[in-house]
Amino acid sequence: MAKTVHIIGSGFSSLSAASYLAKSGYKVKVFEKNASIGGRARQFKHEGFTFDMGPSWYWMPDVFERFFGDFGKKPEDYYKLDKLNPGYKVVFSENNSFEVSDNLDEIYKAFDEKETDGAKKLKKFMDNAKSNYDIAIKKLVYKPGESPLELVTPATVGKVGEFFSNISRDVEKDFENNDLKQILKFPVLFLGARPQDTPSFYSFMNYADFGLGTWHPKGGFFSVVKAMKELAESLGVEFQTNATIEKIDVNQSGRVKGIQVNGETLTADYVLSGADYHHTETLLDEKYRQYSEQYWDKKVFAPSSLLFYVGFDKKLKNVNHHNLFFDVDFNQHADDIYKTPKWPKEPLFYANFTSLTDPDTAPDGCENGFFLIPLAPDINDTEELREQYFHKIITRFEKLTGQSVQKNIIFKKSFCAKDFKNDYNSYKGNAYGMANTLLQTAFLRPRLKSKKVKNLYFTGQLTVPGPGVPPALISGKLVSELIKKYD
Ligand SMILES: Cc1cc2nc3c(=O)[nH]c(=O)nc-3n(C[C@H](O)[C@H](O)[C@H](O)COP(=O)(O)OP(=O)(O)OC[C@H]3O[C@@H](n4cnc5c(N)ncnc54)[C@H](O)[C@@H]3O)c2cc1C
Repeated sequence: MAKTVHIIGSGFSSLSAASYLAKSGYKVKVFEKNASIGGRARQFKHEGFTFDMGPSWYWMPDVFERFFGDFGKKPEDYYKLDKLNPGYKVVFSENNSFEVSDNLDEIYKAFDEKETDGAKKLKKFMDNAKSNYDIAIKKLVYKPGESPLELVTPATVGKVGEFFSNISRDVEKDFENNDLKQILKFPVLFLGARPQDTPSFYSFMNYADFGLGTWHPKGGFFSVVKAMKELAESLGVEFQTNATIEKIDVNQSGRVKGIQVNGETLTADYVLSGADYHHTETLLDEKYRQYSEQYWDKKVFAPSSLLFYVGFDKKLKNVNHHNLFFDVDFNQHADDIYKTPKWPKEPLFYANFTSLTDPDTAPDGCENGFFLIPLAPDINDTEELREQYFHKIITRFEKLTGQSVQKNIIFKKSFCAKDFKNDYNSYKGNAYGMANTLLQTAFLRPRLKSKKVKNLYFTGQLTVPGPGVPPALISGKLVSELIKKYD
């Protein structure tokens, strides 16, 4: 008889693992506490507006191709992908912004216009970024983090120095123009730490950005969730929503006996959790937890975020699909997140308007907006502060884009640290997991396989390889391989 695997949570990592395990012959069931699947990538609709609640940047399309390819499929079998051009816009002031083209040659030209030898310097930087991408994303991230030796390959030996320098230092050394420096330091923010704390080797994110481009799945990022669910169901995976796992029961010999869900105990041969790692460990009796509260408290977490989902009753001008508002001090805001956690006086923010390129995501003549301010984890989160900060950014937005929009808001919903905790059991209300710093890379991250409970496994953004949707897909693959290996 097929062995059973119960999976906690239905984020990308769980969805990925579910399909790999089902394909290998396991009987898989996914339990999700919320009413809808997708985890941080849930979607909601309101009177013709569609809002993706979390991810919006579809980067590293090759990782998605590889995932679907493992099942003899292609992303296009499920959803339509468009490469955005421009990929995104960075706003530095009312009269100064930079659009990142979908074409590397165009980006070289734009760098040359901003700085002497800009193209030449960028070419050198990108050649190295591409070589890092080929090493990291094609090979290293597909290692399960069981041993430091996984990182030692002829290719990485030549790159040792890049693990001990950082992105910020490299960019500051190679470039002079402040706008270009900010643009080059942006991609690693997806890894959850400051560019000063992110090893140079992670410049592969710059290749993902300029080299591979920014894509949009039609219908929004949730189209990818739907695709993965369809694939999983075709392999026999079952889903149960509104199913909160309350406890993981372990027997005398240190094996999971079962999980408690909605007052019922269900037995399984394996339990795999894609819920936040810290939360999952609290479902175990203390002696079965691998990491102490002090351990978690010392880790660098990705920021929390204040989000607004906004419906406008008119089309907006002077904005692109993705927009970064970098018109205030980047370093000060980073310090307010990582060094002395507090609400930033003048926050940077990000906004997307998917209805500009995907008109079905808003009613005719309207625009949907998603606004994000990164904040320190565990920030004090009140309605008053949320409103105060909405006012701050929307006023700046009006000035920077030269239009009034406040009177055109017909829908607004916020989401912040408290919601990350309530909805996802997120540790300290982190938005996207544990950062990838040098000491939180590969085998130094929380493990995929429990050391204390034999048939308990973990996946997702707090374990290997790290935060983001592509790593979540990879994490699901890695953990499914480990389950098979130790079965
Ligand atoms: C605002 C925001 C913007 C982002 N932008 C991007 C982006 O543009 N591009 C990108 O690549 N990545 C982005 N990310 C990161 C990306 O969304 C995440 O890294 C990824 O979706 C995490 O997937 P996961 O499977 O690890 O976890 P999650 O999506 O958090 O899934 C965990 C699931 O477990 C469930 N759960 C928790 N506790 C229990 C329980 N006791 N019982 C049952 N279920 C439980 C939760 O409800 C949740 O559904 C963003 C994240 C956020 C929040």
